[in-house]
Amino acid sequence: MDPVLNYIDGEFVAAQSGETLDTINPATGEVITTLPRSRSEDVGTATSAAMKAAPAWSATPISERIRWLHRLADALMEEHETIAHLESMDTGKPISLARRVDASRSVANFRFYAEFGEQHSDPTFSDHGAVNHVHRSPIGCVGLITPWNLPLYLLTWKVAPALLMGNTIVAKPSELTPLTAHHLAGIMQRIGFPNGVFNLVHGLGPEVGQAIVEHPKIRAISFTGGTATGKIVAATAAPMFKKISLELGGKNATVVLDDAPLEKIMDDVVRASFTNSGQVCLCGSRILVHSSIYEPFKQQFIKAVEGIVVGDPSNESTTMGSVISKDHQQKVESYIRLGREEGGKVLSGGTASDSPVDGVHPNGAFLRPTVFEGLSHTSRTACEEIFGPVVTLHPFDDDDEAVTMANATEYGLAGSIWTGDAQRGHAFGQRLDTGIVWVNTWLNRDLRTPFGGVKQSGVGREGGAWSLNFFSELTNICVLEP
Ligand code: NDP
Repeated sequence: MDPVLNYIDGEFVAAQSGETLDTINPATGEVITTLPRSRSEDVGTATSAAMKAAPAWSATPISERIRWLHRLADALMEEHETIAHLESMDTGKPISLARRVDASRSVANFRFYAEFGEQHSDPTFSDHGAVNHVHRSPIGCVGLITPWNLPLYLLTWKVAPALLMGNTIVAKPSELTPLTAHHLAGIMQRIGFPNGVFNLVHGLGPEVGQAIVEHPKIRAISFTGGTATGKIVAATAAPMFKKISLELGGKNATVVLDDAPLEKIMDDVVRASFTNSGQVCLCGSRILVHSSIYEPFKQQFIKAVEGIVVGDPSNESTTMGSVISKDHQQKVESYIRLGREEGGKVLSGGTASDSPVDGVHPNGAFLRPTVFEGLSHTSRTACEEIFGPVVTLHPFDDDDEAVTMANATEYGLAGSIWTGDAQRGHAFGQRLDTGIVWVNTWLNRDLRTPFGGVKQSGVGREGGAWSLNFFSELTNICVLEP
């Protein structure tokens, strides 16, 4: 495969230092290609290009920007299969998942914001004889920093509203997964998207990401990634009074109430646990089950988990691929060992040597879905974000106890509640300290709704009008007729 390059001012260019990094297929350990190891000078060039393009792009009528979003959605749709293939190769996720989630949602992000922009209007307020008009201006050049778990999905989730609101962009995808961002840049070049409006700089977080956050001309940072990195981003950006949106880690509870119809919900609870090898910030990794149904739940859950087909991501029948890297595999395995040290019992799965996956590449980063029981809900295994295919089961005796257990982590991103009574689930959901609650469903996303976390899961909300507000400056113009 051709090397990945930076995309600056409509041109593909190497890092100014000429240095490169390898991008690796985690399912085989093989090098796919190289990417630039960029540094602050490359961020500087990209930011200058974005600043140069800003006046024309911000002056482009919103109707024309909306047409561009539709064109990007159309072009991504034409490349749907290629994108799914690239994402599967770069992340180790099953091709079927990459099609259904990554490729489809990347199209949907552009389409959604195009349509949302067509329908959106800001209110006016009349009082004291005057009329208040809300005026939106672009921020200028914005920095977008995204992780490896849903590479193009999360990048386009930021790119689309940023473009709609008239901003220009300097973006950095994770250095582990640069392929689809590079492909998006190729699409932009092919369809004649204006030069300098979207710029992509590849490289390491502490080098490129940090340089984006530090750059004085980049006035807003939208960051999705881990909580530890989010703290660095916040500490760097806050003294410069940049706008920041932080979508960070999670340790989400899946709460199964005593009236939950087990057979009906089981496939969804398993999906909430292990989609993308548990590497979705919204996955439910702490499963709290009412003690009266704990044993039947456990039996049915383990049976369903053992039906997950772990294997070569390019196989159509595979339902769980590798994790993102050998390093990450080792991190997840260290938590499996910790879980045992903390007194937990592995009901299914384990480390790669406990429970090897047959028929996969020997250098692939494969793990089986792992289920623990017997751990305290305050144990490290049950409270720290593992971001892999590991869940812990915990019985509870009443709703109050379940709420206490669900809220007992530093995170507060999402949660799901499973019950035969939707109203009960709705009321229960209001007691969870999280940004998102699903009742009898999971990852059911209406893109108009607010998305984001509380506590250490982040600051701010994305989605619908919340993204438009983040990516624009609002001026209230109060007009009194003379
Ligand atoms: P990281 O925090 O390690 O990285 C996220 C991005 O930040 C990457 O592009 C990374 O670059 C970059 N980065 C690293 N250091 C810096 C720095 N000093 N300044 C600026 N940018 C930097 O997260 P992961 O990629 O490991 O992603 C997994 C995490 O993301 C999990 O914690 C998960 O919960 C969270 N996440 C949250 C979501 C949400 O919506 N709340 C959604 C998806 C994931 P590089 O990769 O090159 O180091």
